[in-house]
Amino acid sequence: MAKVLGIIGGGQLGMMITEAAQNLEEVSKIIVLDPTENCPAAKVGAEQIVADFKDEDAIKKLSELSDIITYEIESGNSDVLKKLETHTEINPSPDTLRIIQDKLLQKQFLKENDIAVAEFVKIENKNELIDVIDKMGLPVLLKTRRDAYDGRGNYKINSKSEIDDALDLFAGKTLMIEKFVKFEKEVSVIAARNTKGKIATYPVVENIHENNILRTTIAPGRVSEKVKKQAEKIAEKTMEVLHGAGVFGIEMFVTADDEILINEIAPRVHNSGHHTLQSCDTSQFEQHLRAILGMELGNSSIKSPTIMYNILGPKTFKGEYNVLFKKQDNVYLKMYGKLESKPQRKIGHINIVDIENRGMDELFNQLEELKSNLVIEPKQT
Ligand code: AMP
Repeated sequence: MAKVLGIIGGGQLGMMITEAAQNLEEVSKIIVLDPTENCPAAKVGAEQIVADFKDEDAIKKLSELSDIITYEIESGNSDVLKKLETHTEINPSPDTLRIIQDKLLQKQFLKENDIAVAEFVKIENKNELIDVIDKMGLPVLLKTRRDAYDGRGNYKINSKSEIDDALDLFAGKTLMIEKFVKFEKEVSVIAARNTKGKIATYPVVENIHENNILRTTIAPGRVSEKVKKQAEKIAEKTMEVLHGAGVFGIEMFVTADDEILINEIAPRVHNSGHHTLQSCDTSQFEQHLRAILGMELGNSSIKSPTIMYNILGPKTFKGEYNVLFKKQDNVYLKMYGKLESKPQRKIGHINIVDIENRGMDELFNQLEELKSNLVIEPKQT
C-alpha cells in the first residue's frame, strides 16, 4: 500500500524529494516539518508542520502521521528519532545520523573501518590545541563538531597568533582539529543503499567551492580512471559499514599523488547530486525514495555529461527578487521558490547538459556566457 512519507526539513532538497515522490505510486502523501511557513517543499504540494527541526512534539506528531520518516538536513534530533524508531520506520537510521552529525564520531567511525581521512584529534582547551599544533604542524583546521555547514564551523589556523581568535569564535562549542589537506581536487560520490542492503553509486563528480560554498559540480569529474574507481570503491565500502538506508553524499579530497581521503558524509541527498535530475535516468531524489521504500535501485550511470551551477543570492541586497535568464535548449533552470534572496543563499541551480556531445570545454564556455546573462535583481514594488 502507498505510504505517507514524513521529511524533516522542507527546503530545496525536501522540495525535490517531494517532486520525485509525485511520480511514484508507492508514496501517497508527503508531510514536511520546517520552521519557514510555506517552505519550498510545501510550495510544490507537500503538507507542512510549521515547527523547529528539533521540536520534540512536532517530530512526534510527524511520526504519528507518517509511515516512514526521512530527513533532508543532518541537524535533526537523533535522540528523539531514536525513541520513535520503535513504531515508525526511520531511514537513514537514527544511529547512523548520530554518528554522522558529530564530525568527530564520524571521523573515528571511518578510521575504525579503515577508510582514510585527514589526521584529526579531539580538543577541549587551549593547551591541548597548542600541543596538537606542535605535533601536527601548521596549518590546521579548527572545526566545530556539530551543526556546521557551508564551512561555517571551520577556522583555518595558519599561525599560533590566531589561536585565541579561533577559540573565541567557537566559544561554548565542542571542537576538533584536523590537519590541513593540500588537495588537488574536491570530489564526491552520491551513493544509495536500499533497505535490503543493495548499493548503487553514481559516478564521481568534481566540486568547486567559493567561500566554502559549493558553486559548481562537474559530472563526471575530470579525474584519472584510477581515482574514479577508487572513489567509487570507497563510497561503496562506506555504505556497507554505515548500514543506513537512503542516499548519502560522500565528499572527498584527492591529493596530488591520487590519495583519496573522505572529508565529510552527508546522510541525505546532496547538492553535488543535483546534476542527476538531467544527467541520469534516476535522479538522486528518486533514488533516495527507492532506497528508503525498499524498492529496486534505479540506473545511476551518467547519460549526458552535465555542469551544475548554484545560483546564490547576490551580496548586494536582501529581499524579494526577479530572475533574468536567457532560455537555451540544453540548460535547465531550477529555482527553489524561496521568497527572499539573501547574500550567498542558495536560491536555485542550473544544469547545463551536453545533449549534443560537444564536450566539456563547450559546456564551460556556455557556463561562462550564462554567468554574465543570469541576473538576480531586487523586485521593484
Ligand atoms: P566542511 O564543512 O568540513 O566539509 O569543510 C568545508 C570546506 O573546507 C571543504 O569543502 C574544504 O574545501 C575545506 N576543508 C575542510 N576540511 C579540510 C581539511 N582537513 N583540509 C583542507 N581543507 C579542508
